[in-house]
Amino acid sequence: MKHNIITVLFATALVVLGFIFWQTDYVFYILAAVFLLYIIVTVYGVFTIQSNYFLTSLNKGKSNAVTLTFDDGPDPVQTPLILAALKEQEVKATFFLIGKKADQYPELVNQIVQEGHIVGNHSYSHHMLIGFFSRRRLKKDLEQCNAVIEQITGKRPLYFRPPFGVTNPRYADVLKELGMQSVGWSLRSLDTKAKNKYALIERILVRLKKKDIILLHDNQEVTADAIDDIVQHCRQKKIAIETLDWVTKTAAYAS
Ligand SMILES: [Zn+2]
Repeated sequence: MKHNIITVLFATALVVLGFIFWQTDYVFYILAAVFLLYIIVTVYGVFTIQSNYFLTSLNKGKSNAVTLTFDDGPDPVQTPLILAALKEQEVKATFFLIGKKADQYPELVNQIVQEGHIVGNHSYSHHMLIGFFSRRRLKKDLEQCNAVIEQITGKRPLYFRPPFGVTNPRYADVLKELGMQSVGWSLRSLDTKAKNKYALIERILVRLKKKDIILLHDNQEVTADAIDDIVQHCRQKKIAIETLDWVTKTAAYAS
């Protein structure tokens, strides 16, 4: 893990610099600067899943195809609309489900799987402060989401997308214990902030490149409206849209 190596490097730098500059007037400033730099690097690692700072995530595909991923569902209104659009376009996607919503709408979870899409774990609570959860509480939360999905579909997910894209050493430990794989993204659609479907489509089309894992949300009206255009654009550019397991050559479920 990059985090461990960097921590050792910074700790060594603190000791060495402290030793060298001990008898100077500015020793405090040098050590404070090193410490501040360490904090900046760590915060960057926490909020940038693509940095693979605490754990390695799947942030990109291995094949030339792109893949669509939807977080924060199932949603009673938007998920059916998105499923209908995907069906019409004959495209399969991955849905990172929030466990407590899956609990509420099991028929939607079933529909997602029956229509050939993949389901992954997006935590049970999607708690605002999940990044501060203890290891034990985090593990329980993730296990609870797996249990709900397995109860409904008979499949135990291996993919996990961290809420808010935040990672830390506790996620690294828990995912390892559960044998799960963290999944990030390479193209953030920002559909949660898009003013209308045209703004969303434009943002995606301008940035889209082969191997992209595209982050969308199936609780946004704008997202459902944009699917047709996104898919058609990919077809025009001869970019295939495949499922996450296919583009990353990994398994979606425990066997
Ligand atoms: Zn989320």
